[in-house]
Amino acid sequence: MSSREAEHAKLLYGLIHARYIITVHGLGRMREKYLKASFGKCLRSSCARTGLLPVGADDTPGVTSVKFFCPACHDVYHPTAKAHTSIDGAFFGTTFPHLFLFQHPTLEAVATPIPYIPTMFGFRMYSQQSRHRAQAARRVLGGEAIAAVAAEMEFDSKEAALVPTLSKGRFELFTVEDPEPAVE
Ligand SMILES: [Zn+2]
Repeated sequence: MSSREAEHAKLLYGLIHARYIITVHGLGRMREKYLKASFGKCLRSSCARTGLLPVGADDTPGVTSVKFFCPACHDVYHPTAKAHTSIDGAFFGTTFPHLFLFQHPTLEAVATPIPYIPTMFGFRMYSQQSRHRAQAARRVLGGEAIAAVAAEMEFDSKEAALVPTLSKGRFELFTVEDPEPAVE
């Protein structure tokens, strides 16, 4: 077989593979591989070593190499194994991981995305809006108003991280003693 014929055979095999893995039988075989973590595990710490699923960024061959989808954080990653960087993404296709999780919902249900909350020196990094409200309360009314603003924020899911901060008395340190907020 000439090298050109070999390339064509490889391409044909790859495209058949992309079709096969979205059949009932193919999905079953991929499940076996997934449960053995054959496609690697997500490196994001909050994903708790969730297994990755191969995905193509494009269904057209020759566009880009295979990527890996994490069912926990729902993000897509470049391959970490060198062997994977030469595998065409179209050989897995854009549909596979989503159809796979549709067929096996329990595999997705165990993986709940946990957002990362940035902090500096133990303080949550506030949104612009909450910083302005805290600054205004500090300027005008002092500690009691700050507590009122904080209590109000407790009901705002975006500010949920403020609650443990308050319980340790850190909110006052941040808003009263600092001349300006320490974080952007
Ligand atoms: Zn992840």
